[in-house]
Amino acid sequence: MSQIYQHRARKRFGQNFLHDTGVIDRIIRAIAPREGDHILEIGPGQGALTESLLDSGAQLDVIEIDLDLIPLLKLKFALQPNFTLHQGDALKFDFNRLAPAPSSLRVVGNLPYNISTPLIFHLLNNAHLVRDMHFMLQKEVVERMAAQPGGGDWGRLSIMVQYHCRVEHLFNVGPGSFNPPPKVDSAIVRLTPHAQLPHQAQDVRALDRIVREAFNQRRKTLRNTLKNILSAEAISAADVDGSLRPEQLDMAAFVRLADQFVAQQAADSP
Ligand code: SAM
Repeated sequence: MSQIYQHRARKRFGQNFLHDTGVIDRIIRAIAPREGDHILEIGPGQGALTESLLDSGAQLDVIEIDLDLIPLLKLKFALQPNFTLHQGDALKFDFNRLAPAPSSLRVVGNLPYNISTPLIFHLLNNAHLVRDMHFMLQKEVVERMAAQPGGGDWGRLSIMVQYHCRVEHLFNVGPGSFNPPPKVDSAIVRLTPHAQLPHQAQDVRALDRIVREAFNQRRKTLRNTLKNILSAEAISAADVDGSLRPEQLDMAAFVRLADQFVAQQAADSP
């Protein structure tokens, strides 16, 4: 039995376990879980957040990739009727499996830093199922998510996250709160999907394409970075000055460019 408690943190799974009860309490207060909530915790690890989430009476699904942590999680929580454990990769997890009502799922996690960006994109693809998300991330990633146009942090992550969600950078957490301590500072972010998108693109994939292409070379002008996918005329038709650099454009301008891209493709197709 004692063996299961001697889990050695695995780098490849981004394991930095929270041990600071002050920080754990603060995170739980920010989430404010309640009976009747349906929560999905990604990467419960040794259960630092899991226990308080369960105590709230919420229905809790957790997904953990590390087979070695499964016996410990079962031992600690499997008897609780509001607990369901899924072993697997959150990046491949089909959130529809949980049969959530629209806009109901509350997603939480002290995320493994190596997969946090693809995981957030995976969740954004399912934003219609989600009520809110609370994540521990690298502080620098939270700053990029919450960035505003005009600065060096404004980029694909800011635009695609803010397209779908309101972003709140709640508070920072130092390395000493984890075991082992990570090399970087962390932060808690709350993402709340918009009830109505403030800037609706005709096709969100076109928006992602334009944004990727534009920020591929962020020092160049838009006319230059977009030249392979959007003509100078199309950029003007979107009411965008092609001599600007991508970081100078706000969300509305990117959405107009994406809509022009859709229109141009429709015109080009036979
Ligand atoms: N929640 C715990 C805590 O706060 O102490 C653990 C956090 S640790 C930073 C990240 C957790 O995510 C680990 O338990 C790790 O095994 C798990 N994990 C890593 N990659 C994963 C994946 N692709 N899918 C699901 N869980 C994953």
